[in-house]
Amino acid sequence: MRAQNPVFIPGPTNIPDRLRHAMNVATIDHRSTDFKNLLQPLLMDLQKVFKTDHAEIMLFPSSGTGGWEASITNTLSAGDKVLVARYGMFSHRWIDMCQRHGLEVQIIECDWGSGAPVEKFAEALANDSEHEIKALLVTHNETATGVRSDIGGVRRAMNASNHPAMLFVDCVSSLASMDFRMDEWGVDIAISGSQKGFMIATGLAVVAVSEKASGATEQAQLARCFFDFRDMRNATANGGYPYTPPLQLIHGLRVSVDMLLDEGLEQVFSRHFRIAQGIRCAIEAWGLRLCAQSSDLYSDTVSAIYVPDGFNSDQLTDHAYDAYGVSFGVGLGEMSGKAFRIGHLGAMTEVMALSGLATIEMAMKDLDYPVQLGSGVVAAQEYYRTSRGHLS
Ligand SMILES: *Cc1c(COP(=O)(O)O)cnc(C)c1O
Repeated sequence: MRAQNPVFIPGPTNIPDRLRHAMNVATIDHRSTDFKNLLQPLLMDLQKVFKTDHAEIMLFPSSGTGGWEASITNTLSAGDKVLVARYGMFSHRWIDMCQRHGLEVQIIECDWGSGAPVEKFAEALANDSEHEIKALLVTHNETATGVRSDIGGVRRAMNASNHPAMLFVDCVSSLASMDFRMDEWGVDIAISGSQKGFMIATGLAVVAVSEKASGATEQAQLARCFFDFRDMRNATANGGYPYTPPLQLIHGLRVSVDMLLDEGLEQVFSRHFRIAQGIRCAIEAWGLRLCAQSSDLYSDTVSAIYVPDGFNSDQLTDHAYDAYGVSFGVGLGEMSGKAFRIGHLGAMTEVMALSGLATIEMAMKDLDYPVQLGSGVVAAQEYYRTSRGHLS
């Protein structure tokens, strides 16, 4: 019966029944008008999720990582300079990908637990009078540390120095769970995936491309084929797809977007905030500490929590799974062994969150953590009870 338990990993997330059923469809011909009628309105509705009126939405059969690759190979050439800050495992992996593609990566090293360094970006851009930096790459929600960065602030820094670089944002673990404003923040490429806020199976990179980024595709020299924006644009303009589309995932995404828009994006964000806030109350009651260095950085989709000195977080997550059949996120990279993560995004409710808190408390108690059984659950209960939102 352990398959009945929710997962508390920050992706892939729990798939609600409605979306599992939505993906269980018979084959239709992707050259038929049925497919055209499925895809085109979906792409339009996805614009609402990204909060953009102008960007083009593209669905590539891939995990989110493919979206990173699409963003750089379609717009850049070997030797081009990009500016990136490293403050967690995901920003690190994007940097690694850029280096493997032969880009010159100007890296700003930051503490894990901090966010995008707006002031250091501003300085680097101001010093780049020749405009050698072609793109700024920012991870909105660093899933390894549970840190949300200020993308609006990054945009203001770019504007302040009148720098023409493009702004690419990884919003894989924030889109459809925390506020994301593609147009307002002047994002040129936004990258997400199907298995996090969208609550469906892994396999779609959901990418939004501004006109400016689109305009960069012709000069860009990096090798690309499968992820070529031009092929995708030409095919979808005619209601088609450049290769066989992952039909079941697209059906799932259709219903996912319906669910998000029916609940209302702002309501989705406040649900995530409340769930996260209750979890943060629990962490405080346990006397434990978040990796995120300050409250303005707190992520509403994932909390990374340091274990006390002398304990190993991998043992905790292993034990929670072995003893109680519940998965929590392990510490990644620099956080390995030092922190565990509670993923609380997607199809999540306060009641589910309470079950996760109760479980990890039992696991901590079993392993002799200096944590009082029930303390975190009570703190979260008090928060949920006294600050009640409306149910939907
Ligand atoms: C999950 C995630 C990705 C993408 O990972 P895939 O496994 O390729 O889907 C990228 N960035 C962030 C911040 C993520 O959380």
